[in-house]
Amino acid sequence: AAEEGFDLEDVEGAIEAAGHGPLPVLAVVGRPNVGKSTLVNRVIGRREAVVEDKPGVTRDRVTYEAEWSGRRFKVVDTGGWEQDVLGIHASVAAQAEYAIDAADAVVFVVDAKVGATDTDEAVVRLLRKAGKPVVLCANKVDGPSGEADAAMLWSLGLGEPHPVSALHGRGTGDMLDAVLEALPEAPAQTFGTAIGGPRRIALIGRPNVGKSSLLNKVANEDRVVVNEIAGTTRDPVDELIELGGVTWKFVDTAGIRKRVHLQQGADYYASLRTAAAVEKAELAVILIDASETISVQDQRIVTMAVDAGRAIVLAFNKWDTLDEERRYYLEREIETELGQVTWAPRVNVSARTGRHMEKLVPAIETALAGWETRVPTGRLNAFLGELVASHPHPIRGGKQPRILFGTQAGTKPPRFVLFASGFIEHGYRRFVERRLREEFGFEGTPIHISVRVRE
Ligand code: GDP
Ligand code: GDP
Repeated sequence: AAEEGFDLEDVEGAIEAAGHGPLPVLAVVGRPNVGKSTLVNRVIGRREAVVEDKPGVTRDRVTYEAEWSGRRFKVVDTGGWEQDVLGIHASVAAQAEYAIDAADAVVFVVDAKVGATDTDEAVVRLLRKAGKPVVLCANKVDGPSGEADAAMLWSLGLGEPHPVSALHGRGTGDMLDAVLEALPEAPAQTFGTAIGGPRRIALIGRPNVGKSSLLNKVANEDRVVVNEIAGTTRDPVDELIELGGVTWKFVDTAGIRKRVHLQQGADYYASLRTAAAVEKAELAVILIDASETISVQDQRIVTMAVDAGRAIVLAFNKWDTLDEERRYYLEREIETELGQVTWAPRVNVSARTGRHMEKLVPAIETALAGWETRVPTGRLNAFLGELVASHPHPIRGGKQPRILFGTQAGTKPPRFVLFASGFIEHGYRRFVERRLREEFGFEGTPIHISVRVRE
């Protein structure tokens, strides 16, 4: 590294930063309008989680990456959801339950100007039951005069209320310090620690693609009732299912059950559920209804799993219903709509007839193997050397940026850091990724490549 002009400390720092494992998850919960979305915007430092004045506006993005005092974590925003037919209590409780379940720590937001309501008390009971670390955010304390309102919230029994103005930023730094204390370094579901334990699979897909039917089929019994109208409370359930002689843990299968049809915010609700399942899983089996046009919603679910860095298998369901014409158009759609996951193993199944169920496990195993692949530094650099020699980066401004060396900083999913003599263009990065995949496989896994440029 030194002779290439990189400081050894920089190199080590870059490798460490790129190699971070899965990030701990922070959930932000509370009643509607207490300022959850505003707070999330503060925490992530962007206006990404758009604060909408209109109720029922669909937002499908629910997890964001954040950093405070040099530590990175994920934030799950539950602010996009309004009261539905179940009533305010049950709605808030259900969304909080999903979020708490997926989280390593929770920020509970209360409107200090309003004070604690019955709904707040209901959330407190859930938080107690879950036993996760909680930071109490007394929001809308825009000035010193609000401090007394915040102090009233000691009554919730959750410890010190942190007076915050999410709108103006007042007090958010102190609150985030408390969050970092509450958050574990790594998520509870640390990958790879349970060697020999069941691998965790999330079965995801938009409503009616056949998730519960598929789960019934693979579980070989009616464990999950198709079209069941479930009650208003939900238990997170992980089911152990034996497939192909191996026991797998299907996470959050209760989320697959049909719930009372929610009128408002149903899509958002489904997104939250999907995000929670993805966070808990190592691999996502993404179910797509092959009989219907691939939709934006399908793409969003794919993006969610890719962004979370999970291994992926694409399962095209309802194959029994396809005629030749539909098969033709489906292939075209896959090319145009699912171009970002050309590397994912694909199975064409029918939950109804059981077609190709036996292909599911080999696909899952392939994807998990890709997800865990580690390329030795020597092999990687031999490959990079050849690549750079045979396909140099285009010359820019009279200079030719070169990749000097690289290393794989982490797995699950594979993360690479490349060190370069100048800015490496997007197109060339894509080319390197494609060649890495051709050379080393990585079937079924996203890969991350970060580039460090010599000063
Ligand atoms: P959510 O439903 O919990 O996500 O709440 P929002 O973030 O959408 O905020 C609801 C309303 O409260 C919006 O009009 C915000 O501008 C307002 N709000 C949020 N935080 C604060 C704050 O710290 N002080 C004041 N005065 N208003 C706030
Ligand atoms: P979920 O909402 O994703 O859990 O979907 P369900 O499992 O409830 O299935 C939705 C509908 O699609 C039900 O009427 C199922 O009987 C039907 N379905 C599921 N899988 C298949 C399949 O492979 N072939 C056909 N023809 N129908 C299916």
